[in-house]
Amino acid sequence: FNVPTPHNEEVLNYAAGSRERALLQSALTEARSTLIDIPMYIGDQQVRTGTKLEIRPPHDHQHVLATFSEGDASTVTAAIDTALAAKADWERLPWEHRAAIFLKAAELLAGPYRMKINAATMLGQSKNAYQAEIDSACEIIDFLRFNVHYMTEIYQQQPPISPKGIWNRVEQRPLEGFVFALTPFNFTAIAGNLPTSAAMMGNVVVWKPAYTQIYAANVLMQVFLEAGLPPGVINLIYVDGPVAGDVIFSHPEFAGIHFTGSTPVFQTIWQTIGNNIHKYKSYPRIVGETGGKDFVLAHASANAEVVSTALVRGAFEYQGQKCSAASRAYIPASLWPQVKELMQRDLATIKMGPVEDFGNFVNAVITEASFDKLAKYIDNAKADSGVEIVAGGGYDKTKGWFIEPTVLKVTDPYYVTMCTELFGPVLTVYVYEDDKFDETLEVVDKTSVYALTGSIISQDRYAIDKATYALRNAAGNFYINDKPTGAVVGQQPFGGARGSGTNDKAGSMINLLRWVSPRTIKETF
Ligand code: NAD
Repeated sequence: FNVPTPHNEEVLNYAAGSRERALLQSALTEARSTLIDIPMYIGDQQVRTGTKLEIRPPHDHQHVLATFSEGDASTVTAAIDTALAAKADWERLPWEHRAAIFLKAAELLAGPYRMKINAATMLGQSKNAYQAEIDSACEIIDFLRFNVHYMTEIYQQQPPISPKGIWNRVEQRPLEGFVFALTPFNFTAIAGNLPTSAAMMGNVVVWKPAYTQIYAANVLMQVFLEAGLPPGVINLIYVDGPVAGDVIFSHPEFAGIHFTGSTPVFQTIWQTIGNNIHKYKSYPRIVGETGGKDFVLAHASANAEVVSTALVRGAFEYQGQKCSAASRAYIPASLWPQVKELMQRDLATIKMGPVEDFGNFVNAVITEASFDKLAKYIDNAKADSGVEIVAGGGYDKTKGWFIEPTVLKVTDPYYVTMCTELFGPVLTVYVYEDDKFDETLEVVDKTSVYALTGSIISQDRYAIDKATYALRNAAGNFYINDKPTGAVVGQQPFGGARGSGTNDKAGSMINLLRWVSPRTIKETF
């Protein structure tokens, strides 16, 4: 039998005067006025410790939204033991019952929990209402519905051929042991996807989010439990990354990691797993979506409006804190004056400020450390005679971690901000001579140490074809005449190669197949 055909959740628009806006505003008010103490979730226990840390909105760093308990190595061990104790029952549960739990979670997020999760994402990560709606409502709902659909396709795959007198079949077993889900701060959708995709395939999970994601992760965990997820299947803990890693990666039952985060952290983890390889029962599954330094390449035939929109939206939505954000651009000299003027025109209309004012397009970056890092790169650019500040360049941390959308123009295509992931609202532009398109393709490929997303903008089909081929390894998600952001689950499976990850395409059957270990059975009659 089949599960309901998945469809993308409709994005609500929180227009002034709408019922949705009123509901979201009241969820925001309630969240801001209620100081909560967030527990960890291990089995059927809500666990609190004596070490309390605070959560504050990045755009209002004097306001305490919540406290949470920090665990230690013993917390990690308890979470692993609890997960392993839940394993036998969970993996015996027929897959349609697992499917039902995650489909119900999607319905809860689409309905009764929608405003709560969006308010949590807005306040915890400083995203505006539209960004929160896309991230923490629609994308998670899509992940759950589409993954359930792909899961059923995996379980109902055509069996191998069976000659007369023999029945061959392939059984999709969960991994032996537990899976570690390690999630970053920047997308609630990723927090929704990483533990659930592994759990859906019958695995038990220890989940550790970034501390700056806990506020929304807590709501997600409540949704999973209310949807009927048996306690112990996903265990949510707040422990310092390396402390958690020490226990997890030396455990004999460690079966795999589902990671999203920065490239250096993933490489450290991979190395640690390699060093411990003799301790495990099986070779662990290592799935990681990591950093990006995503490009927009315009050809001289491009429409300047399309280029400018791709850059402004691609670079500055979500404060540039998107792995797919456009952060380097290559613009032909003949097009640059027009693109520059259009970008300056659009950026002059953009408002920056707290998320509670729905008119603000740009909000705060996540932490003071991130703010300081970005401010330093901007100061260095200001002091460099080879760099022109085309727009922005300002920053202010009086009330929140605010960095103005900033456009730098450089004369060196290898300038540090053309090559380094900054993860903030800073775009660097290199202007090339129109007749140097082929050479520029080589530069783009050479500087693509990461290979997550990229765009070619052109009205010349030969140039599009050339770029599509020349940059075939420079982006796991390649866009023609669009910004390099905004992949939709079920439409553009997402993931990068090179330094950007193992390219196991989040929200696809490829990803779900990493969480099963097939057994082939031959029965002779
Ligand atoms: P991060 O690497 O700092 O943290 C990710 C997770 O790893 C967190 O839970 C963190 O606590 C944990 N961690 C950190 N050090 C650890 C260690 N030594 N051992 C074990 N765990 C450790 O990433 P972040 O700042 O939260 O997120 C931003 C990064 O994520 C950016 O580089 C961005 O490009 C990337 N990202 C990639 C994708 C993608 O799909 N490719 C999507 C979103 C974010």
